[in-house]
Amino acid sequence: MLDLLLTQVRLQQETALMDVGVRQGRFTYLAPSQPNHRPDALQTEDGAGGMLLPGFIEPHIHLEKAYLLSRMEQEAASLQDAIRMTAEMKHGFTKEDMQERSLTVIREAVRSGVTHMRCHAEVDPILGLSAFEAALELKERVKPVLDLQIVVFPQEGIAQSPGTAELMDEAMRLGGDVVGGITYQDADLKEHLRFVFDLAEKHGKPIDFHADFSDNPEQLAIADIAAKTIAAGMQGLVAAGHVTSLGSLEHHRAVSVVEQIKKADLQIMSLPATDLYINGRGDLEKPRRGLTPIGLLLEHSVNVVIGVNNVRNPFTPFGKADPLETAWLVAVSAYMGGEADARHLIHMLTDGAARALGVQDYGIRIGAKADMVLFAVQTERDILLDKPEHRTVWKRGVKSAETRVSSELQRF
Ligand SMILES: [Zn+2]
Repeated sequence: MLDLLLTQVRLQQETALMDVGVRQGRFTYLAPSQPNHRPDALQTEDGAGGMLLPGFIEPHIHLEKAYLLSRMEQEAASLQDAIRMTAEMKHGFTKEDMQERSLTVIREAVRSGVTHMRCHAEVDPILGLSAFEAALELKERVKPVLDLQIVVFPQEGIAQSPGTAELMDEAMRLGGDVVGGITYQDADLKEHLRFVFDLAEKHGKPIDFHADFSDNPEQLAIADIAAKTIAAGMQGLVAAGHVTSLGSLEHHRAVSVVEQIKKADLQIMSLPATDLYINGRGDLEKPRRGLTPIGLLLEHSVNVVIGVNNVRNPFTPFGKADPLETAWLVAVSAYMGGEADARHLIHMLTDGAARALGVQDYGIRIGAKADMVLFAVQTERDILLDKPEHRTVWKRGVKSAETRVSSELQRF
């Protein structure tokens, strides 16, 4: 007896309508839809021909500094300005305040179909471990609807912010999932990388950098990260967000760096809303877009994924935690407008992100965890273009969100 049977759904790479069954939180039945031959189930839902995707994975987000617009007197004029403004506001953060704003983001994400998320919790002498501990409590609280990975993130730098190194070690000991780094906040890059890789080795955890967030083509920490990853034997376990400097580098040099990225199997995370908003503003003529060179990376088969990063704060004073918003922005800005591109963008939000985050037992297949989102439209391209509100989300076979919208049009 199945716990849940979902009938008449469309799956990626399948032409026939399918029935999908769940037992004890995992997919145990998958067959072409046959109305007269259906297994018994405690609960049956009609998918009505809509497309069923594995749950979305948000690979890079900042929860405790989301929703700060009402506390800002003006918008940031640069990256350093955004960091300074946020650091000032951090002095007023309390645990309840951080958790409340984090939950607003998480609710929006879950409603949008997100079943896994990687957040960066800031660890530094301003916040101490309070943001990290707030995230750790939330991780337990939201477990029924979301798997949350916590990156121990030194936003203020490590060497330039004394005390941070010890706090990071303590946070990793208390249950941090990933060691964070930020290549543009410390003067000595080699020392920064040495500390981050040593901490990852000590705790046996993967690494996630904020790297090369600028238009300066000479800022190429990513090449050092690639070399260090290979030396440490951590291929596939190191991620880097932004990597926008590479987008300003002349082509032949960029190709050689991308080859190193591929060799190290770095997981590249493009964060287009923040990158478009912050980068390029110093260019008085021919402003650059300041984006991760997604096309070039994909040409070399690098695993590129996309994240919302910030929601309504000095770094990005807009946005919400719907991965389809990010995908749409990437489609427009990275020239990914075709049908195959739409499929690849959905891949970035699902299987590609699962690989980047090391998520196991993922996807709509027998034995995997039943994390899924059902749309009322029939193709991946329609999901991307419509960003339909109408969605139903299940986490380990239990419904976590259902959104229905109705509109009434006057006759015309
Ligand atoms: Zn970030």
